[in-house]
Amino acid sequence: MAIHSLPWSVPANINAFYTSRTDGFGSPPYDSFNLAHHVSDSEDTVLKNREKLQSLVPKARHWQWLEQVHGTEVLLIDDANALSQQELTADGLVCRVPGVVCCILTADCLPVFFADRWGREVAIAHAGWRGLAGGILEATISKMDAEVEDVVAYLGPAIGPCHFEVGAEVLKEFLSEPAEPENQLEVMACFSKVRGSEPPEQKYLADLYALASQRLKRLGVTQISGGDSCTVCQQETFFSYRRDGETGRMLSAISFE
Ligand SMILES: [Zn+2]
Repeated sequence: MAIHSLPWSVPANINAFYTSRTDGFGSPPYDSFNLAHHVSDSEDTVLKNREKLQSLVPKARHWQWLEQVHGTEVLLIDDANALSQQELTADGLVCRVPGVVCCILTADCLPVFFADRWGREVAIAHAGWRGLAGGILEATISKMDAEVEDVVAYLGPAIGPCHFEVGAEVLKEFLSEPAEPENQLEVMACFSKVRGSEPPEQKYLADLYALASQRLKRLGVTQISGGDSCTVCQQETFFSYRRDGETGRMLSAISFE
């Protein structure tokens, strides 16, 4: 199956899914359902994969693709004029127009899905560690119309704490912002020291899912699910940049009717 619907509780008018690497047209190292144009896969293959994708989501009226830059810019689509046939440069989208599929491409970075529990608004964010530490989730929530207690969130497939080895600079970046001592402790609990590494070359295994969850909880989001995959471990299902370097990208997408 190329498309996996999210197992979360939201109204039936919301369609949210992520793709796996399977059932596409590509050959190694892009085998086979790569949906990204920027990774040196053949243009034709990507177009064929996107055609197949679009046939699997027949109700979609517009696919909004992004050029993601590991930043914290979130764009708002609140009328049909905000739509573009081009990629928009941003790492998050908030959408209040029915039929618009908001698209994020990843291969290890964390895609975070958001829906208003009344089904009137959706959002999606691309949260690699830089975007996460920079505040992409906070920026997304603040652009949403929904009250924060009405926001439902889902953490899509990303590199897991079993494989996300980082240097001390990543921990430092996450510690640079939360001033409260209990928040600092929470952040530190998401980094476990890799045995055999020592300062100044200390390595950590970082838990992106836990870092994202604690930020969402601090914002007041209580309905959070997902966060149980590892793109590196699940080689048959997911592309992983950390594991393979040159490889494809999965799509995470959300829309409402
Ligand atoms: Zn893993």
